[in-house]
Amino acid sequence: MGAAAQEQVRGGFTARYGAEPDGIWAAPGRVNLIGEHTDYNDGFVMPFALPHQAVAAVSRRADGVLRLHSADIGGDPVELRVADLAPESDRSWTAYPSGVVWALREAGHEITGADVHLASTVPSGAGLSSSAALEVVVALALNDLYGLGLRGRQLARLCQRAENVYVGAPVGIMDQTAAACCEAGHALFLDTRDLAQRQIPFDLAAEGMRLLVVDTQVKHSHSEGEYGKRRAGCERGAALLGVAALRDVAVDELDAALERLADDEEAQRLVRHIVTENARVERVVALLEAGDTRAIGPVLVAGHASLRDDFRISCPELDLVVDTALASGALGARMTGGGFGGSAIVLVEAADVDGVTKAVEGAFADAGFTAPRVFEAVPSAGARRLA
Ligand code: ADP
Ligand code: MG
Repeated sequence: MGAAAQEQVRGGFTARYGAEPDGIWAAPGRVNLIGEHTDYNDGFVMPFALPHQAVAAVSRRADGVLRLHSADIGGDPVELRVADLAPESDRSWTAYPSGVVWALREAGHEITGADVHLASTVPSGAGLSSSAALEVVVALALNDLYGLGLRGRQLARLCQRAENVYVGAPVGIMDQTAAACCEAGHALFLDTRDLAQRQIPFDLAAEGMRLLVVDTQVKHSHSEGEYGKRRAGCERGAALLGVAALRDVAVDELDAALERLADDEEAQRLVRHIVTENARVERVVALLEAGDTRAIGPVLVAGHASLRDDFRISCPELDLVVDTALASGALGARMTGGGFGGSAIVLVEAADVDGVTKAVEGAFADAGFTAPRVFEAVPSAGARRLA
């Protein structure tokens, strides 16, 4: 987001609240390069930050009042009292920033109010984590304004708690950690068991490649129930195998594990995906650290096949993106995010961007699907103060 957009958020704040903000902060959306549904199995994920971000102008208040306004929602600011915030009491967008205030106060930080005006370029509900961008931008602003001295990973934890408990959404730690901790030109290798993290060089432009995000604009209504079923199935698999989490099954132990699950075809499929997916994340890390970026293409493709055939969370639109992209010369492609819609990622040579984009758009038109939104994702900076 350029200086113009930042000034727009500043102007929006001043118009609403009649004073200059104390500061302006930004936090990005993310895509997950590889490591899908591994986060609730104590496994590995590898997100990077998008150039799309939530920008918030914020001022501190001392009177216990929290005022929230989104340029993208409009209307008058919502006014709340911080002392009245209660989990699952709010079904609107304001639950995300309010939840952050609640989680900070729950953790013992004396937050006495704020005025918030924000705008976001992260597409909402596209699996690109607009919700975490919203949470993290507010958390970072309050961290600075109240001198809390919390680090990115601590803010991520508090934001996850806000979303789990206050909003009531059972999400893992990946999205908030990505928004808080990613660095430009890098993907973030995150071990969701101990939250150890490592920045992995991922500067595609320097190597003549691009990464496209294809938002299918599809969101199937049964996705939440299916998420719960996959999660329960993974837990059943781990229990049957006598491990704390599927993370504890190494890829060379997979055959033996599948034999032990011979009576449970569903558990076999879910376990196979998680175990091989963790291995794929480690493979991608090794390839990127060795400078062999083009070689990650087939690993992404294998990840898609595993999500489609074993985890069974793809859909015709996502499969069409992947099949069409590969047929028109992409180096690799896979669905990303929770599944049943949302977005796919496509790794292409810079020279093939237009050809692959047109092929995917054409295939969607031929199939009678809603036109997808295709954009380029440059690995970008995590949350930071802009002014
Ligand atoms: P995702 O995080 O994948 O985009 P979620 O369902 O987790 O999808 O979060 C989307 C929700 O976040 C929206 O329904 C809305 O409540 C909130 N949200 C996202 N962007 C904005 C925005 N610019 N202004 C206000 N609320 C927003
Ligand atoms: Mg979300």
